[in-house]
Amino acid sequence: MELKKHLDTLQVLLVAVSKTQPVERIMSLYEAGIRDFGENKAQELCLKYEALPKDIKWHFIGHLQKNKVKYIAPFVHLIHSVDSLELLQEISKQALKTNRTIDVLLQFHIAVEESKFGLTEEEATQLLQTPPLEGIRICGVMGMASFSDNPAQIKAEFMQLNAVFNRLKQAYFQESSWFKIRSMGMSGDWEIAMDCGSNLVRIGSLLFGERTYLNK
Ligand SMILES: *Cc1c(COP(=O)(O)O)cnc(C)c1O
Repeated sequence: MELKKHLDTLQVLLVAVSKTQPVERIMSLYEAGIRDFGENKAQELCLKYEALPKDIKWHFIGHLQKNKVKYIAPFVHLIHSVDSLELLQEISKQALKTNRTIDVLLQFHIAVEESKFGLTEEEATQLLQTPPLEGIRICGVMGMASFSDNPAQIKAEFMQLNAVFNRLKQAYFQESSWFKIRSMGMSGDWEIAMDCGSNLVRIGSLLFGERTYLNK
């Protein structure tokens, strides 16, 4: 697993995005030493959690509906996709129910595409004005760049996210050692993301090959 070794030396966490992949393929990366896997559907995540070794750290990277939080709350390692106060409140509620502290990231909208989820900086600032919620640790930021073949565009978006991270750290998390994660970069843009300060990359197709969607 050359990529993982390379990223380890740079202290960048590799999350293998295993959505749509069968458990056998996940096991082969597990055997190669990977312990962090990312999924974007709650139900699929739960099935894989049941089937696979319990020392896997499961990252939730997709849009999360409030009514699905309870299924993943007992075991999820990091939720990358918090984009509303209501969702954060629900995660807090379920964390308290399961006696856990759940780590989360705030997802930001940095791409030009309309369809992508995520907060604006103003929305995040508003969210952070409210009293801190129990059972939650906000550990950093996540974002997806535009699907673009223009590296300058992608770079500008990641730089913007890194700047948001720095401003939030300064304003709200100076004393919070856990607020340190910049989750940015996928198979097509992870090197650009790392140039812009990423310390967590979410890589799917580069590790597993192209995904085949059964229902699409
Ligand atoms: C699918 C997905 C990835 C991985 O995408 P690849 O291009 O296959 O590396 C990363 N992040 C999120 C949020 C995803 O949904």
